[in-house]
Amino acid sequence: MSHLVDRRVALAVAGTGLVWSGLLLPSTAAAAAQGSWRFCRKCSSLFYDGFPAKGVCAAGGAHEAAGLVFVLPYGVPETPKAQSHWRFCGKCSVMFFNGMPQKGACPAHGGHEAHGFEFTLPHSTPETPTSQGKWRFCGRCEAMFFNGFPAKGACPAGGGHQAVGLDFTLPYETDYPNKVTKLAQPNGQLQRVLKEAWDDVGRAVVAERVQKAVNGREFRRGTSGYDAHASIGEMTAAWSPKGPQQWHVAMTVPGNNVEFHTTTPTVFGSYADPAFRVGFGLVVEFDLAVHQGNPPITVGVTRANTTNASVHGSNASGTIVETVADFWTHGAFSRTITDQVNNDQQFQKSLAGAVTKAIDRAW
Ligand SMILES: [Zn+2]
Ligand SMILES: [Zn+2]
Ligand SMILES: [Zn+2]
Repeated sequence: MSHLVDRRVALAVAGTGLVWSGLLLPSTAAAAAQGSWRFCRKCSSLFYDGFPAKGVCAAGGAHEAAGLVFVLPYGVPETPKAQSHWRFCGKCSVMFFNGMPQKGACPAHGGHEAHGFEFTLPHSTPETPTSQGKWRFCGRCEAMFFNGFPAKGACPAGGGHQAVGLDFTLPYETDYPNKVTKLAQPNGQLQRVLKEAWDDVGRAVVAERVQKAVNGREFRRGTSGYDAHASIGEMTAAWSPKGPQQWHVAMTVPGNNVEFHTTTPTVFGSYADPAFRVGFGLVVEFDLAVHQGNPPITVGVTRANTTNASVHGSNASGTIVETVADFWTHGAFSRTITDQVNNDQQFQKSLAGAVTKAIDRAW
């Protein structure tokens, strides 16, 4: 996405003074983010590094990129924790605050000149593994600069920058595609990463889904499951590339079981209800996509399949045991779990989040 957007900006620049915003930005790109924003090691400002020319630096010559690559949100409304009116200066290439009548001090001459996207930058939030704090507004030149060093860079208004107002926390690129490619190599640590994600959120959620699949399930007329308790085992993952920055992952979970009762179509009362214990294997497959932007990891279509189901019933007649066993052996259980998981974006999101966290830990 950010590459596409960058290309559009580049085209606009190559063109003849087109008005960028609105004209080139489709409304569907409302929640986009732009990469290539960097710290300048000479002046400490945040500048856009996506063009061959590197702007005008207050320390002399052009800006020089160092450190992290920031990916900044634009085209979204302001919130109590994100400030709008941040713009690219077409003259010096820095990010400056355009929310006031005066336009600060531009190293190219005069005030800054707003071009392109309207950025909405996060502030007043703690740093995360993918965002850096200590970015501030300079009250003298009105650019965004990094205030984390004792030296305050070179301010076009003279001397160093002067921090005023909000404390910004800017999201940066962490090159997850590169990380995952390395982790997925033989002897890499993707197995461990997926295992951690499974232990973190996978097992508990799948156990809950299995219980949900059994509770209230009418195996036959008058015979419904209730009081299910599932226990989900350890998993071993296998993966293969599916496309560019896309992996197919199969998690094999052999030792699971679920215990439950069923109602009886009789008048004996619930003390006579049959109790079941079903042992089963599970293969959970899903597509894992890795992105350069945010979120770095997404989990797509998920399938679940049972293997080797064994059904034990006590206080149950042979026909009821057979009916219950059919649920596992004829695919209904697999379909129910698959449907549940695919209709639950929260599950896919939390699994993706757990994979991301595990990747961050492995690195
Ligand atoms: Zn600079
Ligand atoms: Zn400027
Ligand atoms: Zn300044």
